[in-house]
Amino acid sequence: MHVREGFHRIEIPTCLPIGEVNAYLFEGPPPTLIDTGPKTQEAYEALTKELRKLGLSIKDISRVLITHGHVDHHGLADVVRRDSRAEIIAPVGDAETVRNFREAYRHKRKATADTFLKTGVPPETLELVEGFFEYLATLSDATTISSTVRDGDVIDVGQCKLKAIHTPGHSPGSTCYRGPEGCLISGDTLIKDLVPVAAFGSAEGESIGLSDYMASVDKLERLGFTDVKPGHRAEFRDIPACTALIHSQFESRQSSIMEVLRNEPSTACDIIDRLYGMLPIQDIFPALTEVLGHLEILTAEGKVRCEDKGGLAYYSIARTGPV
Ligand SMILES: [Zn+2]
Repeated sequence: MHVREGFHRIEIPTCLPIGEVNAYLFEGPPPTLIDTGPKTQEAYEALTKELRKLGLSIKDISRVLITHGHVDHHGLADVVRRDSRAEIIAPVGDAETVRNFREAYRHKRKATADTFLKTGVPPETLELVEGFFEYLATLSDATTISSTVRDGDVIDVGQCKLKAIHTPGHSPGSTCYRGPEGCLISGDTLIKDLVPVAAFGSAEGESIGLSDYMASVDKLERLGFTDVKPGHRAEFRDIPACTALIHSQFESRQSSIMEVLRNEPSTACDIIDRLYGMLPIQDIFPALTEVLGHLEILTAEGKVRCEDKGGLAYYSIARTGPV
């Protein structure tokens, strides 16, 4: 889809619950692609077909800029590089994930399993989550990166200067770009009518990163963009509506979690049972990471305390009072 002169949105299928991913092409010079879609035949064909409509082929791409280290966004990057010798630029915080992809996913799978084990998740559910990680690991290759991008870096593309804005939370290195005429190329940090998950996306990469995500949302709000080109779904202009949805979900989840904990000490899985009952498998990972994200924040704020009981993490309201 033509966005404006020399700048196009390309929808690429992902075979993941999120649906299609948006890549963006700048004709340049140099011809630059932001994100690529996952490494599947279907995605490769869709990318090739859309480039052909613009009179281009994958061989013409000189540069691939990655918004973040998730397979639906960078999985095809090394295939494009091999076809075209394009340079690959990845956010510094996700560069290792993109570069040593298989190893990074093995590590992510283990870290997720270790964390989830303490939540009281049933073994068969954990097996399904691990199986999903194994599937994700097939959707990219290890990728040779030419350089990394940091907050504030400026990348020239033809007449346009793309400015990198580091927005951790969805992933440690998640990066948005200020694009042509002040638009925001938002990756998965802002998506219309959807609250993206913060899943081990803190800037240090060691925690769920929900507080980093909320800080990133505030940062983008302050920058006052009025035109967003997201990584999924349609473009949109009403940023206050998008961020209001994110804030209201945050507030309502936090108060529901506190409500559950006021009744009795609970594991993260107890909380999910109380809030949602049975969940379809594709919703368990986002629901668990969201609850864990809130528990992390509530614990850090001293409102909730965490206690290990037989290998499970039990959370309860922190009683404060005279000592
Ligand atoms: Zn995505």
